[in-house]
Amino acid sequence: MTFNLNNIIRKNVSTLKPYSSARDEYVATGANMVFLDANENPNNNGVNRYPDPHQRSLKSAIADIKGVSQKQILLGNGSDEVLDLLFRAFCEPGKDHVITLPPTYGMYGVLANINAVENRQLPLTPEFQPNLEAIEKAQSSSSKLLFICSPNNPTGNLFNQAKIEWILANFNGLVVIDEAYIDFADIPSWVTRLQEFPNLVVIQTLSKAYGMAAVRLGLCFASEAIVNVLKKIKPPYNVNELTQQRALTGILDQQTVQEQIGELVRQRTALANQLKGISFIRKIYPSEANFILIKVDDADLRYRQLMENGIVVRNRSTQTLCENTLRLTVGTTQENKKLVNVLTNIMKDG
Ligand SMILES: *Cc1c(COP(=O)(O)O)cnc(C)c1O
Repeated sequence: MTFNLNNIIRKNVSTLKPYSSARDEYVATGANMVFLDANENPNNNGVNRYPDPHQRSLKSAIADIKGVSQKQILLGNGSDEVLDLLFRAFCEPGKDHVITLPPTYGMYGVLANINAVENRQLPLTPEFQPNLEAIEKAQSSSSKLLFICSPNNPTGNLFNQAKIEWILANFNGLVVIDEAYIDFADIPSWVTRLQEFPNLVVIQTLSKAYGMAAVRLGLCFASEAIVNVLKKIKPPYNVNELTQQRALTGILDQQTVQEQIGELVRQRTALANQLKGISFIRKIYPSEANFILIKVDDADLRYRQLMENGIVVRNRSTQTLCENTLRLTVGTTQENKKLVNVLTNIMKDG
């Protein structure tokens, strides 16, 4: 089956003429340009000018670090904006559908609802792997997006590489691989395989490993053709100047980023080992992310007890296949120590 991008773009988007902003039209011709084109306040305070709508400096740094062309990058106000742009570019409300593989990140389903797009939920197998037969049966010509979260939130595992390759080769819409946690995993990013798969979209974020959740920067990597479709519909100034500056500084400090990732991965292993001593923890799921999913005897009770002791975790018990589970983010050494102490005390109190 050959993938054809033109078959999956919404009609209104493919014929759309995008908004042309004042800063789009200007081409730098010298240092002494006078900008009287955008009705800005001319008094310089560092943020009086509109930001670069193409985020050139930031994209150039990201392209170098990730080994892609700048033309394969789209940036958004968090991954959430990038995901929303995918719905708006490719899914006709009330007609098309997307496929999600629960238990997984809740935002895919929320965005489907916001955009009035059906969400076909095909649960993972008990080993938390995609069910290929179910995907084959569920897809049709109105299947536009399939979301793969790997490492998966909330289960923490990576999906089998051959299964993802099968999905890429057999799904007739876009396969969106959300790599929010890829920096904590032991395998390379799917970004390295963009040339092989014209229907591959990879999403990353600065909110986790890069330590910049407040900055709000989501990264989308795809073919130039897909990126161009998303560029047509993105708000011109969706990534503000403060975000562009702070993100650039943070990304360029690779030493800090890599040191922190290494430390969090070591802490993850240490925490998983210590959790083995807590008798009411029934299962510790292996993790390739910066959190650990555990199954306990009574998740509501243990959640409440942790809260009473000043520790907030995430109760994932209402999710498919996740009965009585809690998701624990790996914190600092101190925070993890406190978590283990509190769990130990709760255990001793019965
Ligand atoms: C945390 C997380 C994100 C990050 O979203 P942002 O909007 O970039 O902060 C994306 N996907 C998954 C699966 C996540 O867990």
